[in-house]
Order: sequence, then structure tokens, then C-alpha cells
Amino acid sequence: MSSFPSDTTELRTEILDTARALTRLKLTMGTSGNVSARTETGFLITPSATPYEDLTPDMIVPMDLEGNYRGEMLPSSEWRMHLDFYRAKPSCGAVVHCHSPRATALACHRKGIPAFHYMVALAGGDRIDCSEYARFGTRALSVAMIAGLGDRNACLLANHGQIAGGLNLRKALGVAEGVEDLADQYLSALVLGEPVLLTEKEMLDTLKKFKSYGKQTNELEMGQEAAFELPTRVD
Ligand code: 13P
Ligand code: ZN
Repeated sequence: MSSFPSDTTELRTEILDTARALTRLKLTMGTSGNVSARTETGFLITPSATPYEDLTPDMIVPMDLEGNYRGEMLPSSEWRMHLDFYRAKPSCGAVVHCHSPRATALACHRKGIPAFHYMVALAGGDRIDCSEYARFGTRALSVAMIAGLGDRNACLLANHGQIAGGLNLRKALGVAEGVEDLADQYLSALVLGEPVLLTEKEMLDTLKKFKSYGKQTNELEMGQEAAFELPTRVD
């Protein structure tokens, strides 16, 4: 049995809420961007060119992983990026694409985000790359995205924006927000020239510690170290 949820009004509403959060968090403007969540039979995705405030749960489009859709509404023009994201990343449960201003500014320079800050680890690697350029809504864009993602779960899209995935909608939105935050910090840091980059070893260490960040001591797996030096508990 699939570990992903079935197509329910609740999941469709969660997609709506995530899409609206993109606008509220100023991660996108107008109808740009799109949101999807994987289901046991494929995924659900926002329809194309529809203002997020006008969306209702029945307008969310169900698709399978072969590229077939059901219903009256056309799926997002970027359905193929979402589909290929799910195919390439089996544990990914949700994908968010947006034109967030700072990430897009970097992407317009075809510049990714290097290890200038340890938080680049939030995308699962030691940097966040920028893809090659391809026009919106094309298979070529999806191919470029897959190369840009590598073994990470987010990338910038040249002269376009960013795309991020996660275990679920909340996590995918969190990664997109994090990418925008890093782009903002990196652009600020660039004012004084190229910042000092963390080494491969320093980033590997961070990535290892990230696995236990947010876990209580009783939640650590056998042999797993805590994310940081623990103070002594005295009660
Ligand atoms: P859709 O409205 O078709 O989802 O397209 C928005 C977008 O961001 C295209 O790249
Ligand atoms: Zn777009």
C-alpha cells in the first residue's frame, strides 16, 4: 500500500492553503507558481492560470504519473516538472514552485546558492544549483530542473524562479521559504564581494547533524548523536 494520502477534500484544501500561503508570504505574485501533493495514485495539482483566492477544492486537478489528468480544469502548465520531481524523488510528497523575488533575482543571473551559510543544507546538500534555461511549461524545463536538483530537493530555475519539494506540503513550503531566505542573505552578503564559503567537510558535518536536529534525545536512532552539544539535565 502507498504511504501517500488518498485524494480527499482535506488534502485538496491543504493544497489551496499552501498556494494562498505563497501569496501571503510574498513568495509569489498573481497566478505565478503552482503547488502539488502526491497521492496513492499520482498527484493533485493546482489548475493553470487561476487566482489562488478563487480556487475551490473541486478545481484541484488529479493526475497520474504517466501524465494523464481528469476533470474540466487544465492542470498547471508546469505539471511535467511536478511529475518528474515525484518520479525522481520517491520520498517526496509535495512540490512547490514559485517566483520568489530574491531567488528569482539570483536565477536571472544564472547563479545558484553556494555554501556561504550552513543552512543551504535545508535542500539536502552542500549547495543549491541554478538550472539551465528553458521556456516555462516545457519538457525541456523539466529536464533542466532534474539536472539542477541533482541529489537535492530544491533548485533555482534560470530566468524564472525556484522549485522545492518535501515530505509533505508544510515541509515543501518550508524549503521554498528557506531558499528565498538564503537567496536574500546571499544577495546581501555579495554586496561586500563573494563571501567565505564553508568547506566540503564543514558542510558534510552540518548535513550529518541536520538529521538529528529537532529530535528529542529519546527519538535518536541507535548510535545517532544529538544535533548539538547537550547541556546537563538536572531534574
Ligand atoms: P500555471 O498558472 O500554469 O501554474 O503557471 C504559473 C507558472 O509559474 C509557470 O511557470
Ligand atoms: Zn513559474
